[in-house]
Amino acid sequence: MSKPVIAIHGGAGAITRTALSAEKEQEYIQALSGIVAAGQQILAQGGSALDAVTEAVRLLEECPLFNAGKGSVFTHQGTHELDACVMDGRTCDAGAVAGVSRIRNPILAARAVLESSQHVLFAGEGAEKFAIAHGLEMVAPDFFFTQSRFDQLHRAQAELGRVLLDHDGAEPIDPDSKFGTVGAVALDALGNLAAATSTGGMTNKQAGRVGDTPIIGAGCYANNATVAVSSTGTGEIFMRGVAAYDVSALMEYAGLSLQQASDRIVMEKLLAMGGSGGMIAIDSQGNVALPFNSEGMYRGFGYVGDAPSVGIYR
Ligand code: ASP
Repeated sequence: MSKPVIAIHGGAGAITRTALSAEKEQEYIQALSGIVAAGQQILAQGGSALDAVTEAVRLLEECPLFNAGKGSVFTHQGTHELDACVMDGRTCDAGAVAGVSRIRNPILAARAVLESSQHVLFAGEGAEKFAIAHGLEMVAPDFFFTQSRFDQLHRAQAELGRVLLDHDGAEPIDPDSKFGTVGAVALDALGNLAAATSTGGMTNKQAGRVGDTPIIGAGCYANNATVAVSSTGTGEIFMRGVAAYDVSALMEYAGLSLQQASDRIVMEKLLAMGGSGGMIAIDSQGNVALPFNSEGMYRGFGYVGDAPSVGIYR
């Protein structure tokens, strides 16, 4: 059996060497390495894949460098609406929340849904009430404010104004073309897989818009028989392409390897549909795949006992 292993991502997009200062690059590398190491430690101590991905994503949410939890992007209306999902490959149980504004760590709310509810996905106010009832930490919506994301919204709206003049009714997009969703996948010592994903969504999205992140099979999927997957990218395309589950289906029904299946989805299918981004995936044998079709993807992985390996650019 493979050594336990964890992989994480901090989003994909137009991340180039020239776009990132040496200082910022170091900040990202340190954050990614530290969070891979935290996950490895949980797995090394016999912790479950489910615990490792939950904690890794919680740490990514707490880190303002990434678009999830603190550091989330703004909606068009200047608010924050966060989505998160977690799935246990052992049982195929899942929990998710969508469009929440007051839960400090949406991934912990998703985990509470997985563990304590007969339902899978809670949205908005109902999700927040569920979180309160389960003792999770609530914050004022301005907790999620960061100046850099606020400036990003204003850039988006300035550009959107121009876009709208040219092409009536164009959908708001992220002008920085950077998706900062976070995620983690892991295989533990007992051979169990798990996946978790959390996001602030896309800059300048319409209030009420829900992306792929909290949708089982699109932004997140785990099944011990095949693979654990966490996605990042243009959510609408990942939803329509059922991206995460499709990797599992290609492995289960067509006998593709992890690398073949994940490449097929990210480098062929999603690209052909106009989807930009990537995914992290670990199969039941402990193989790791980190494909992306954008210029970069913040990513890292580590087998227990090895040093974390992290990357940003292609
Ligand atoms: N997939 C996310 C969404 O559409 C965005 C991202 O990956 O950063 O909400």
